[in-house]
Amino acid sequence: MDEERPDLAPYAAMSHLSRGRRYCEEFKDRRPNFERDRDRIIHCTAFRRLEYKTQVFVNHEGDYYRTRLTHTLEVAQISKGIARRLRLNEDLAESIALAHDLGHTPFGHTGEETLQRLMSDCGGFEHNRQSLRVVEELEERYPNFPGLNLTWETREGLVKRSFGRADGSVVPAAFEPHLAPTLEAQIIELADEIAYNNHDIDDGLESGYLREGQLQGVTIWREINEQVRRKYPGISGKKEKYQTISHLIGHLIGDLVENTRATLEGKGVRSCDDVRRAGEPIVRFSPATQAKNEELKAFLNEKLYRHYKMERMRLKARRTISRLFETYLEHPSLLPFRHQERARTEPLKRVICDYVAGMTDRYALEEYRRLFDPEERV
Ligand code: MG
Repeated sequence: MDEERPDLAPYAAMSHLSRGRRYCEEFKDRRPNFERDRDRIIHCTAFRRLEYKTQVFVNHEGDYYRTRLTHTLEVAQISKGIARRLRLNEDLAESIALAHDLGHTPFGHTGEETLQRLMSDCGGFEHNRQSLRVVEELEERYPNFPGLNLTWETREGLVKRSFGRADGSVVPAAFEPHLAPTLEAQIIELADEIAYNNHDIDDGLESGYLREGQLQGVTIWREINEQVRRKYPGISGKKEKYQTISHLIGHLIGDLVENTRATLEGKGVRSCDDVRRAGEPIVRFSPATQAKNEELKAFLNEKLYRHYKMERMRLKARRTISRLFETYLEHPSLLPFRHQERARTEPLKRVICDYVAGMTDRYALEEYRRLFDPEERV
């Protein structure tokens, strides 16, 4: 097995050095480990459901906007680009990127916050942990084991990608919380950020919740926009928007790659073990770009995510998730048989949480109508 790419850097994660999978398997072919992980993720049920899960704009608000699936594809593309330039393992980066939001609830972060509240007395809820749960427990495809039986490194990446950031996520002991994850996993966190900041600007402008004039107050947007205008005199409208976003993504990737290369050199990193023992993330923007990126995030937070129409979406999302959850809890016989079956061996709240977290926006709204609209078919 395992034709390793010949040009990998010594600090890349090597497929043939993987710590392997939980369950022994007889494989039908000889794909390298992380390539096999990626393929399993693309074929799983939770991956397809990303199509009808909210990124920022609820699915039925319009066809233009990113969904969790198109967001995920953008993160995968950016991650692979960064991995290639740093001579890291693209297959591992792609696997983690494609799986990074598998545990996301319907209705984006509002869905997550609502389940956090509802599960606070029963083990909590966090989407990275749920992504791990999806690939380790909830996918049912193989006769001899639960989940997808992915490698340790892909699973580690799902729970440790935000290593070194105070985001409140708890890493299970099996994934050595004190050690940094692979560089491939570290890439995902920032690729995620590059993807969502940029597509949220695009979707925000398209929706009319943001105006281009407001963005001129944001340093990094203004600087890149000036470059684009110099490059294409007379550019305007959507083409100007697209080119500014494209150049901004390119700029952020370039900064990340250069700064990370310098850090690797400065710290004398020569192996994957050096990466793990570094004690802090190595993949970072330069301090100047980091500051500008924070300014952009603060802008989006204030002007887009807190827009009153976003608040309306949030209100409806909270109501839908809470009401479904509480109704199943009160009347478990409303759950499909498969989930009632699971509730014999697992806490009812966890079973309901998994069921609701796995729903798409569409399914959650249909289910809401089936349960509460007297005229809707059951
Ligand atoms: Mg994401």
